[in-house]
Amino acid sequence: MPIHVLSPEVAAKIAAGEVVERPASVVKELIENSIDAGARSIRVEVRDGGQRLIRIADDGGGIPPDELPLAFARHATSKLSSMDDLERITTLGFRGEALASIGAVSRLTMVSRPVGSNAGALIRIEGGQQVRLGEQGAPPGTAVTVENLFYNVPARLKFLKAPATEAGHIHRVVTRYALAFPEIRFHLKLNERVALQTSGNGALYDVLLEVFGLETCRQMIALPDEDAGHDGDHTARSGQQPARVAGYVGMPSAHHAQRDHIMLFVNRRWVQDRLLSTAVVQAYHTLLPVGRYPVAALSVTVDPTEGDVNVHPAKSEVKFRDQQAVFGAVQKAVRAAVIMASDPPQLAIRPGGSRNPDTPPWQAPGDWRQMSHFGFEAQRTMPGEGESDLSVGASRLPVLRVLGQLAQTYLIAEGPDGLYLIDQHAAHERVLYEQLQHQRAETAVPVQQLLQPVVLELTPAQAAVLDAEAAVLAQIGFDIEPFGGYAYRLRAVPELLLPADPAAAVGDILAAMAEGAVPLSRRSDERVLTTVCKRAAIKAGQSLSLHEMHELVHNLERCQAPRTCPHGRPTILHLSAVQLAREFGRG
Ligand code: ADP
Ligand code: MG
Repeated sequence: MPIHVLSPEVAAKIAAGEVVERPASVVKELIENSIDAGARSIRVEVRDGGQRLIRIADDGGGIPPDELPLAFARHATSKLSSMDDLERITTLGFRGEALASIGAVSRLTMVSRPVGSNAGALIRIEGGQQVRLGEQGAPPGTAVTVENLFYNVPARLKFLKAPATEAGHIHRVVTRYALAFPEIRFHLKLNERVALQTSGNGALYDVLLEVFGLETCRQMIALPDEDAGHDGDHTARSGQQPARVAGYVGMPSAHHAQRDHIMLFVNRRWVQDRLLSTAVVQAYHTLLPVGRYPVAALSVTVDPTEGDVNVHPAKSEVKFRDQQAVFGAVQKAVRAAVIMASDPPQLAIRPGGSRNPDTPPWQAPGDWRQMSHFGFEAQRTMPGEGESDLSVGASRLPVLRVLGQLAQTYLIAEGPDGLYLIDQHAAHERVLYEQLQHQRAETAVPVQQLLQPVVLELTPAQAAVLDAEAAVLAQIGFDIEPFGGYAYRLRAVPELLLPADPAAAVGDILAAMAEGAVPLSRRSDERVLTTVCKRAAIKAGQSLSLHEMHELVHNLERCQAPRTCPHGRPTILHLSAVQLAREFGRG
């Protein structure tokens, strides 16, 4: 075939395919137009996964009748005129491609009436051709109806998934905008069923309630700067700070198997950004169980010149000028909120949930996970909620008075509001972990030379790990030298490991490094730290003197994150005075 220029019709369809991938892309583009038009209310109606019909109606500014045809011309926009504007985009759209693209691959009707005008107009486009234009009575605002999407692009039609799947994509898209714009009322109807309805009252928490439900929302914490980013300006100037972070994050107890409960918005655009979601996950370091992810809905505001959203219309990436600074701001904000709110899990006595109601609650509680078998459950509550009036938001522990030891595994203590049970192993792990972390940061880890160096016979795999991580091990206080073949000589260890068997500890560490056994930590130094602490910590079944118990509790009180061990398990459970009174029938 000789080279020739494509017919405008073919070129338009190809270009349209770039913008409109599936029904959810139509919904996305039309919602963005409504938001850009200043809508306070956006109604979305979908039939058969959007392939048959998508209708979006808003109460925004509208389009003057004489501009209607132009809105469907390619590269026609009212949002941008010069290259300079592109530098500081404050609207969601700016390419002038969406309406032209959607019109090229569907039968589209738009009815619009500008605010302040009493005449509305209607335009109908079929496969890119204008087939109608005329006056039409309508309420102020704009309504777009898209029918028979891809009717003239069989290749696209073939790739559409089942209507329920496409409807799911649409649901997710609408949800994201509802979260990003709590001041706009969203209403989504899928085949006559109301799938989402927000109030538009401006409170992000109320949207979260709709999206995640009460159970999850109870376990969410507002970042201090909650209102920031929702003050009407998409891209409020952030002053000196690289990024302003606002929104809600889940308590460590609200965790999920996937990252998809982490919702991120940059300048009120939903983004899918591995780096930012990693910043959130790392903020929970040592607070979550293995392989679990937190919940978050975070709005990051950067100066428009600091971030580039000028990416492909169908993509949801963002580029920052200073990635590290934004990463750090997110991690810091989330960490602070989570630490602040991590009150000890409460022991909730469940009248009906107990397997054996005759078993006294305090008898041999066993593993914390099995507490519910004895009528207990480990439960965390939002500060200010539940039975306890335990110092709200305190990251530190209350001052505790140790009463004794239970089953040589738990310490029993009295605090300002009732009874506390402390897992001696988990608590000691936390204490050692923070000590060691601090000492390492100061490059002052106390090291003990072994009187008798220990020869380690390693497997080739272990030796490889050891060689790769030699620097990390040295930093934490291990002195290990090659001793021919796969043998190594252990000459010194971090002092806190001394009561333990040093060779066994090194074996553990190598295994942990090889497997990546530590939650959320790709970093091998963290793995070494947690493994050392696990080895060195007091074990369950070890009897402690009153002095040792005092010291442990005192050290735990001084920790930054005293309420979980470095693996994310609780160190302390709480039975409040109120609960006790209730259980004893004291009212
Ligand atoms: P863009 O959003 O990139 O400008 P579109 O093709 O999506 O391009 O829309 C073209 C133009 O049509 C917009 O710039 C805007 O002026 C107008 N428009 C589209 N949808 C609406 C709407 N819902 N309300 C008011 N004006 C709209
Ligand atoms: Mg647009």
